[in-house]
Amino acid sequence: MPRSQKGLPIRQKIPNVKNIILVSSAKGGVGKSTVSVNTALALNSLGAKVGLLDADIFGPSVPRLLNLQGEPRLSSSGKLIPLSNYGVQSMSMGYLVSPEQAVVWRGLMVMKALQQLLFEVEWSPIDYLVIDMPPGTGDTQLSIGQLLQVNGAVIVSTPQDIALIDAVKGIKMFEKVDIPIIGIVQNMSHYICPNCKHESHIFRSEGARRIADEHNLKTLGSIPLDEEICLQSDAGKPIVISNPDSESVKPYFDIARSIL
Ligand code: ADP
Repeated sequence: MPRSQKGLPIRQKIPNVKNIILVSSAKGGVGKSTVSVNTALALNSLGAKVGLLDADIFGPSVPRLLNLQGEPRLSSSGKLIPLSNYGVQSMSMGYLVSPEQAVVWRGLMVMKALQQLLFEVEWSPIDYLVIDMPPGTGDTQLSIGQLLQVNGAVIVSTPQDIALIDAVKGIKMFEKVDIPIIGIVQNMSHYICPNCKHESHIFRSEGARRIADEHNLKTLGSIPLDEEICLQSDAGKPIVISNPDSESVKPYFDIARSIL
């Protein structure tokens, strides 16, 4: 790893990648991967060339969400060639090892795998590389922030207090490594009854918006709790592709427009 005179890692670019965007959540299960994939697809339909890197070594979801599997081929220079679907290139540990294999890895192995994902992939030239970060604010997340020249980070949270406390940890982490925060996404912000269209705020409302205001950050979108988002993700056809006219798709386009 190249280092500065002070011994700090020098932030690197990724070949063929113009902009790097991190999608992060300090807690698992809040919808970070769903936001990463749908935002990448929205960026693509707005005309950008997009890659999606699944940096979640222990719980890769991109293969399922993009309905992709199989081992990547190697380029003539020995780099991994991304797998593509719906116009988006992607790379994930899920293409390389089974989750059961990765679960027993120690820190050093994880860092090696991460370095390979970050620097040994032969992307066809892309405008945006969206990185679906591992959940949390630990060493791995900090390392990614310190290794790469990142353009900005999107923080995903649900509106409950417990998730918001963690979201603040995420904000602090990015401040620590000088990565600009593009804004906060409030996922599962409300539920619209498919029959009577009544809107209920199951996890309380506006929590992420409050945290965003307190930290002078933008709220990029409020995504409803929508059964279709979950069902289509499980079926490998994210909602931006399967039902682009749905109301629930709009926030993903709002996030994409704030990135462009
Ligand atoms: P994370 O990456 O934070 O662990 P995921 O994106 O894997 O979270 O989402 C966790 C689960 O919640 C998945 O089953 C996903 O389909 C579902 N999900 C995410 N966002 C929504 C939403 N807005 N409405 C309904 N289900 C959602």
